[in-house]
Amino acid sequence: MHAIAILCSGGDVSGMNPAIKRFVEYAFAKTLTPFLVYDGYEGLIDDRIQEAHYRDVSNIITQGGTFIGSSRSERFMLPKHRKQAALNLKKRHIAMLVILGGDGSFRGMHIFYREHGIACCGIPSTIDNDIAGTFYCLGVDTALGMIRTAIDAIRDTAASLNRAFVIETMGRECGYLALVSALTSGAELCLIPEIPYDFKALTGSIKQQLHKGRHYMIIVVSEGIAQEHETIISWLQNDVGIETRLNVLGHLQRGGTPSVYDRLMAYRFITYGIDGLLQGEKSSVVCYGAERFHYRQVDEVATTPYEIEAELLALGQHVCTLGAS
Ligand code: ADP
Repeated sequence: MHAIAILCSGGDVSGMNPAIKRFVEYAFAKTLTPFLVYDGYEGLIDDRIQEAHYRDVSNIITQGGTFIGSSRSERFMLPKHRKQAALNLKKRHIAMLVILGGDGSFRGMHIFYREHGIACCGIPSTIDNDIAGTFYCLGVDTALGMIRTAIDAIRDTAASLNRAFVIETMGRECGYLALVSALTSGAELCLIPEIPYDFKALTGSIKQQLHKGRHYMIIVVSEGIAQEHETIISWLQNDVGIETRLNVLGHLQRGGTPSVYDRLMAYRFITYGIDGLLQGEKSSVVCYGAERFHYRQVDEVATTPYEIEAELLALGQHVCTLGAS
Protein backbone atom coordinates (compact mmCIF):
# COMPACT_ATOMS: atom_id res chain seq x y z
CA MET A 1 0.00 0.00 0.00
CA HIS A 2 1.20 3.51 -0.79
CA ALA A 3 1.41 5.99 2.06
CA ILE A 4 0.16 9.56 2.15
CA ALA A 5 0.45 12.21 4.86
CA ILE A 6 -1.35 15.41 5.78
CA LEU A 7 -0.27 18.47 7.75
CA CYS A 8 -1.63 21.90 8.65
CA SER A 9 0.65 24.92 8.35
CA GLY A 10 0.40 28.60 9.21
CA GLY A 11 -2.81 30.04 10.65
CA ASP A 12 -5.50 27.51 11.59
CA VAL A 13 -8.95 27.73 10.03
CA SER A 14 -12.29 26.18 10.80
CA GLY A 15 -12.66 23.40 8.25
CA MET A 16 -9.29 21.77 8.83
CA ASN A 17 -10.78 19.04 11.02
CA PRO A 18 -13.45 18.05 8.48
CA ALA A 19 -10.66 18.02 5.87
CA ILE A 20 -8.50 15.70 7.99
CA LYS A 21 -11.48 13.38 8.54
CA ARG A 22 -12.13 13.18 4.81
CA PHE A 23 -8.40 12.71 4.18
CA VAL A 24 -8.22 9.63 6.39
CA GLU A 25 -11.44 8.08 5.11
CA TYR A 26 -10.72 8.77 1.43
CA ALA A 27 -7.16 7.50 1.77
CA PHE A 28 -8.51 4.19 3.06
CA ALA A 29 -11.05 4.09 0.25
CA LYS A 30 -8.17 4.46 -2.21
CA THR A 31 -6.18 1.74 -0.41
CA LEU A 32 -3.59 4.24 0.77
CA THR A 33 -2.10 4.27 4.27
CA PRO A 34 -2.82 7.68 5.83
CA PHE A 35 -0.41 9.44 8.18
CA LEU A 36 -0.98 12.53 10.32
CA VAL A 37 1.84 15.04 10.80
CA TYR A 38 1.41 16.91 14.08
CA ASP A 39 2.19 20.65 14.35
CA GLY A 40 2.91 21.43 10.70
CA TYR A 41 6.42 21.76 9.32
CA GLU A 42 7.79 21.75 12.88
CA GLY A 43 6.37 18.27 13.43
CA LEU A 44 7.63 17.16 10.03
CA ILE A 45 11.17 18.12 11.06
CA ASP A 46 10.84 16.59 14.54
CA ASP A 47 9.27 13.36 13.27
CA ARG A 48 5.90 13.80 14.92
CA ILE A 49 4.22 11.62 12.32
CA GLN A 50 1.69 8.91 13.13
CA GLU A 51 -0.27 6.41 11.12
CA ALA A 52 -3.96 7.34 11.21
CA HIS A 53 -6.94 5.15 12.07
CA TYR A 54 -10.65 5.75 11.72
CA ARG A 55 -10.97 6.37 15.44
CA ASP A 56 -8.52 9.31 15.23
CA VAL A 57 -10.99 11.25 13.14
CA SER A 58 -14.24 10.28 14.81
CA ASN A 59 -16.17 13.13 16.40
CA ILE A 60 -13.96 15.91 15.01
CA ILE A 61 -16.14 17.22 12.18
CA THR A 62 -17.86 19.73 14.48
CA GLN A 63 -14.67 21.21 15.89
CA GLY A 64 -12.91 24.37 14.73
CA GLY A 65 -9.12 24.61 14.53
CA THR A 66 -7.11 21.48 13.84
CA PHE A 67 -6.69 18.56 16.20
CA ILE A 68 -3.27 17.74 14.69
CA GLY A 69 -2.02 21.26 15.37
CA SER A 70 -0.39 23.80 13.09
CA SER A 71 2.72 25.93 13.29
CA ARG A 72 4.90 28.57 11.75
CA SER A 73 8.38 27.14 11.34
CA GLU A 74 11.51 29.23 11.01
CA ARG A 75 13.53 26.02 10.73
CA PHE A 76 11.67 24.89 7.60
CA MET A 77 13.21 27.89 5.82
CA LEU A 78 16.59 26.12 6.07
CA PRO A 79 17.65 23.29 3.71
CA LYS A 80 19.12 21.10 6.47
CA HIS A 81 15.79 20.96 8.31
CA ARG A 82 13.83 20.35 5.12
CA LYS A 83 16.22 17.46 4.44
CA GLN A 84 15.44 16.00 7.86
CA ALA A 85 11.72 16.44 7.16
CA ALA A 86 12.09 14.55 3.86
CA LEU A 87 14.01 11.72 5.57
CA ASN A 88 11.22 11.36 8.13
CA LEU A 89 8.70 10.88 5.34
CA LYS A 90 10.90 8.62 3.22
CA LYS A 91 11.69 6.21 6.06
CA ARG A 92 7.94 5.53 6.26
CA HIS A 93 7.70 5.30 2.44
CA ILE A 94 5.42 8.34 2.36
CA ALA A 95 5.63 9.67 -1.19
CA MET A 96 2.62 12.02 -1.12
CA LEU A 97 1.89 14.94 1.18
CA VAL A 98 -1.25 17.08 1.50
CA ILE A 99 -0.66 20.53 2.98
CA LEU A 100 -3.45 22.71 4.37
CA GLY A 101 -2.16 26.27 4.52
CA GLY A 102 -1.81 29.68 2.95
CA ASP A 103 0.57 31.16 0.40
CA GLY A 104 3.54 31.05 2.79
CA SER A 105 3.02 27.34 3.37
CA PHE A 106 2.79 26.79 -0.38
CA ARG A 107 6.09 28.60 -0.97
CA GLY A 108 7.65 26.17 1.50
CA MET A 109 5.89 23.25 -0.19
CA HIS A 110 7.21 24.23 -3.60
CA ILE A 111 10.81 24.37 -2.40
CA PHE A 112 10.37 21.08 -0.52
CA TYR A 113 9.08 19.32 -3.64
CA ARG A 114 11.88 20.71 -5.82
CA GLU A 115 14.55 19.62 -3.34
CA HIS A 116 13.25 16.19 -2.35
CA GLY A 117 10.77 15.04 -5.01
CA ILE A 118 8.00 14.18 -2.55
CA ALA A 119 4.73 14.87 -4.38
CA CYS A 120 2.80 17.61 -2.60
CA CYS A 121 -0.68 19.01 -2.93
CA GLY A 122 -1.78 22.29 -1.35
CA ILE A 123 -5.30 22.92 -0.08
CA PRO A 124 -5.94 26.69 0.19
CA SER A 125 -6.78 27.23 3.86
CA THR A 126 -6.82 30.80 5.10
CA ILE A 127 -9.62 33.06 6.27
CA ASP A 128 -7.94 35.91 4.38
CA ASN A 129 -9.13 34.41 1.05
CA ASP A 130 -6.00 35.87 -0.52
CA ILE A 131 -4.61 33.00 -2.59
CA ALA A 132 -4.38 33.75 -6.30
CA GLY A 133 -6.17 31.34 -8.63
CA THR A 134 -8.84 30.08 -6.26
CA PHE A 135 -12.23 31.64 -5.72
CA TYR A 136 -12.50 30.12 -2.25
CA CYS A 137 -10.16 29.20 0.60
CA LEU A 138 -11.19 26.82 3.37
CA GLY A 139 -12.36 28.60 6.52
CA VAL A 140 -13.67 31.78 4.93
CA ASP A 141 -17.35 30.99 5.28
CA THR A 142 -17.07 30.11 8.98
CA ALA A 143 -15.02 33.27 9.59
CA LEU A 144 -17.66 35.36 7.83
CA GLY A 145 -20.30 33.76 10.04
CA MET A 146 -18.36 34.66 13.18
CA ILE A 147 -17.93 38.24 11.96
CA ARG A 148 -21.64 38.49 11.15
CA THR A 149 -22.55 37.37 14.67
CA ALA A 150 -20.15 39.92 16.17
CA ILE A 151 -21.34 42.82 14.00
CA ASP A 152 -25.01 42.00 14.64
CA ALA A 153 -24.31 42.19 18.37
CA ILE A 154 -22.33 45.42 18.09
CA ARG A 155 -25.12 46.93 16.02
CA ASP A 156 -27.49 46.46 19.00
CA THR A 157 -25.32 48.61 21.24
CA ALA A 158 -24.45 51.10 18.50
CA ALA A 159 -28.16 51.70 17.90
CA SER A 160 -28.96 51.97 21.61
CA LEU A 161 -26.19 54.44 22.37
CA ASN A 162 -26.25 56.48 19.14
CA ARG A 163 -22.64 55.73 18.35
CA ALA A 164 -20.42 54.86 15.44
CA PHE A 165 -18.48 51.61 15.67
CA VAL A 166 -15.35 51.03 13.66
CA ILE A 167 -15.01 47.25 13.39
CA GLU A 168 -11.74 45.77 12.20
CA THR A 169 -11.73 42.38 10.48
CA MET A 170 -8.72 40.21 9.67
CA GLY A 171 -7.50 39.73 6.10
CA ARG A 172 -3.93 41.06 6.04
CA GLU A 173 -3.59 43.04 2.80
CA CYS A 174 -6.79 41.57 1.35
CA GLY A 175 -10.11 43.35 1.92
CA TYR A 176 -12.33 40.35 1.11
CA LEU A 177 -13.52 39.59 4.67
CA ALA A 178 -14.23 43.25 5.36
CA LEU A 179 -16.05 43.83 2.08
CA VAL A 180 -18.29 40.75 2.26
CA SER A 181 -19.00 41.45 5.95
CA ALA A 182 -19.95 45.04 5.18
CA LEU A 183 -22.30 44.00 2.38
CA THR A 184 -23.97 41.27 4.42
CA SER A 185 -24.30 43.09 7.72
CA GLY A 186 -25.67 46.34 6.34
CA ALA A 187 -22.66 48.44 7.25
CA GLU A 188 -22.81 52.11 6.32
CA LEU A 189 -19.19 52.27 5.23
CA CYS A 190 -16.38 49.86 4.38
CA LEU A 191 -12.71 50.79 4.07
CA ILE A 192 -10.30 48.34 2.41
CA PRO A 193 -6.88 48.65 0.79
CA GLU A 194 -8.21 47.81 -2.70
CA ILE A 195 -10.53 50.84 -2.96
CA PRO A 196 -9.12 54.34 -2.37
CA TYR A 197 -11.08 56.49 0.08
CA ASP A 198 -11.12 60.19 0.73
CA PHE A 199 -12.34 61.34 4.15
CA LYS A 200 -13.17 64.81 2.88
CA ALA A 201 -15.41 63.41 0.16
CA LEU A 202 -17.12 61.00 2.59
CA THR A 203 -17.83 63.62 5.26
CA GLY A 204 -20.60 65.43 3.37
CA SER A 205 -22.48 62.24 2.52
CA ILE A 206 -22.35 60.88 6.08
CA LYS A 207 -23.35 64.22 7.60
CA GLN A 208 -26.34 64.24 5.28
CA GLN A 209 -27.37 60.78 6.49
CA LEU A 210 -27.08 61.93 10.12
CA HIS A 211 -29.10 65.01 9.32
CA LYS A 212 -31.85 62.82 7.84
CA GLY A 213 -32.12 60.77 11.01
CA ARG A 214 -29.34 58.21 11.03
CA HIS A 215 -28.28 57.94 14.65
CA TYR A 216 -25.60 55.24 14.59
CA MET A 217 -23.09 53.80 12.14
CA ILE A 218 -21.27 50.58 11.45
CA ILE A 219 -17.95 51.05 9.66
CA VAL A 220 -16.10 47.89 8.70
CA VAL A 221 -12.37 48.31 8.07
CA SER A 222 -9.91 45.67 7.02
CA GLU A 223 -6.73 44.79 8.85
CA GLY A 224 -4.80 46.06 5.81
CA ILE A 225 -5.49 49.64 6.83
CA ALA A 226 -5.08 49.17 10.58
CA GLN A 227 -2.49 51.95 10.62
CA GLU A 228 -5.32 54.35 9.79
CA HIS A 229 -7.41 53.59 12.90
CA GLU A 230 -6.56 56.75 14.76
CA THR A 231 -7.21 58.84 11.68
CA ILE A 232 -10.58 57.18 11.05
CA ILE A 233 -11.74 57.63 14.64
CA SER A 234 -10.59 61.22 14.85
CA TRP A 235 -12.28 61.96 11.51
CA LEU A 236 -15.60 60.48 12.71
CA GLN A 237 -15.50 62.23 16.08
CA ASN A 238 -14.17 65.61 15.01
CA ASP A 239 -15.20 66.13 11.39
CA VAL A 240 -18.39 64.04 11.14
CA GLY A 241 -19.35 64.68 14.76
CA ILE A 242 -20.42 61.25 16.08
CA GLU A 243 -19.15 59.51 19.19
CA THR A 244 -17.07 56.57 18.00
CA ARG A 245 -15.65 53.34 19.40
CA LEU A 246 -13.15 50.91 17.92
CA ASN A 247 -13.69 47.15 18.00
CA VAL A 248 -10.90 44.89 16.76
CA LEU A 249 -12.50 41.47 16.28
CA GLY A 250 -9.21 39.56 16.37
CA HIS A 251 -8.89 35.82 16.71
CA LEU A 252 -12.55 35.02 17.33
CA GLN A 253 -12.79 35.16 13.52
CA ARG A 254 -10.64 32.03 13.22
CA GLY A 255 -12.63 29.76 15.53
CA GLY A 256 -16.09 28.30 15.79
CA THR A 257 -17.74 25.16 14.57
CA PRO A 258 -17.12 24.73 10.82
CA SER A 259 -20.04 25.95 8.71
CA VAL A 260 -21.89 23.60 6.37
CA TYR A 261 -20.15 25.23 3.42
CA ASP A 262 -16.69 24.75 4.92
CA ARG A 263 -17.44 21.11 5.71
CA LEU A 264 -18.54 20.52 2.14
CA MET A 265 -15.59 22.41 0.68
CA ALA A 266 -13.21 20.49 2.95
CA TYR A 267 -14.69 17.30 1.55
CA ARG A 268 -14.31 18.48 -2.03
CA PHE A 269 -10.84 19.99 -1.67
CA ILE A 270 -9.44 16.82 -0.11
CA THR A 271 -11.09 14.53 -2.64
CA TYR A 272 -9.61 16.52 -5.51
CA GLY A 273 -6.27 16.77 -3.69
CA ILE A 274 -5.87 13.02 -3.28
CA ASP A 275 -7.24 12.30 -6.76
CA GLY A 276 -4.73 14.78 -8.22
CA LEU A 277 -1.81 13.15 -6.43
CA LEU A 278 -2.90 9.71 -7.60
CA GLN A 279 -3.18 11.03 -11.17
CA GLY A 280 0.39 12.30 -11.06
CA GLU A 281 0.05 15.94 -9.95
CA LYS A 282 3.28 16.50 -8.07
CA SER A 283 3.33 20.10 -6.98
CA SER A 284 -0.14 21.59 -7.31
CA VAL A 285 -2.71 23.55 -5.34
CA VAL A 286 -6.39 22.59 -5.59
CA CYS A 287 -8.18 25.70 -6.83
CA TYR A 288 -11.90 26.36 -6.97
CA GLY A 289 -13.10 28.15 -10.11
CA ALA A 290 -14.77 31.51 -10.13
CA GLU A 291 -18.54 31.45 -9.93
CA ARG A 292 -20.29 33.90 -12.22
CA PHE A 293 -23.82 35.18 -12.66
CA HIS A 294 -25.44 34.78 -16.02
CA TYR A 295 -28.87 35.06 -17.66
CA ARG A 296 -31.08 32.24 -18.91
CA GLN A 297 -34.44 32.46 -20.63
CA VAL A 298 -37.34 31.97 -18.24
CA ASP A 299 -39.05 29.27 -20.34
CA GLU A 300 -35.92 27.15 -20.11
CA VAL A 301 -35.61 27.69 -16.33
CA ALA A 302 -39.30 27.12 -15.63
CA THR A 303 -39.61 23.93 -17.68
CA THR A 304 -36.34 22.19 -16.84
CA PRO A 305 -36.28 19.92 -13.78
CA TYR A 306 -33.52 20.69 -11.28
CA GLU A 307 -30.69 18.20 -11.04
CA ILE A 308 -28.03 18.03 -8.38
CA GLU A 309 -24.71 18.68 -10.08
CA ALA A 310 -23.04 15.50 -11.27
CA GLU A 311 -19.84 16.20 -9.37
CA LEU A 312 -21.67 16.39 -6.05
CA LEU A 313 -23.65 13.24 -6.80
CA ALA A 314 -20.43 11.40 -7.58
CA LEU A 315 -18.88 12.62 -4.33
CA GLY A 316 -21.90 11.49 -2.35
CA GLN A 317 -22.27 8.12 -4.05
CA HIS A 318 -20.47 6.23 -1.30
CA VAL A 319 -22.57 7.60 1.54
CA CYS A 320 -25.76 6.62 -0.31
CA THR A 321 -24.60 3.13 -1.29
CA LEU A 322 -21.92 2.41 1.35
CA GLY A 323 -19.61 1.74 -1.58
CA ALA A 324 -15.87 2.22 -1.64
CA SER A 325 -15.29 5.94 -1.98
P1 ADP B 1 0.45 30.90 5.65
O1 ADP B 1 0.70 29.57 5.02
O2 ADP B 1 -0.83 30.93 6.43
O3 ADP B 1 0.59 32.03 4.64
P2 ADP B 1 3.03 31.63 6.77
O4 ADP B 1 3.28 32.69 5.75
O5 ADP B 1 3.33 31.93 8.18
O6 ADP B 1 1.53 31.10 6.78
O7 ADP B 1 3.89 30.35 6.32
C1 ADP B 1 3.80 29.15 7.04
C2 ADP B 1 5.13 28.45 7.05
O8 ADP B 1 5.49 28.11 5.71
C3 ADP B 1 6.31 29.26 7.54
O9 ADP B 1 6.37 29.34 8.95
C4 ADP B 1 7.47 28.45 6.99
O10 ADP B 1 7.71 27.31 7.79
C5 ADP B 1 6.91 27.99 5.64
N1 ADP B 1 7.46 28.85 4.59
C6 ADP B 1 6.98 30.04 4.17
N2 ADP B 1 7.78 30.55 3.19
C7 ADP B 1 8.77 29.67 3.01
C8 ADP B 1 9.92 29.62 2.17
N3 ADP B 1 10.21 30.59 1.30
N4 ADP B 1 10.74 28.54 2.27
C9 ADP B 1 10.47 27.54 3.13
N5 ADP B 1 9.41 27.53 3.96
C10 ADP B 1 8.56 28.57 3.90
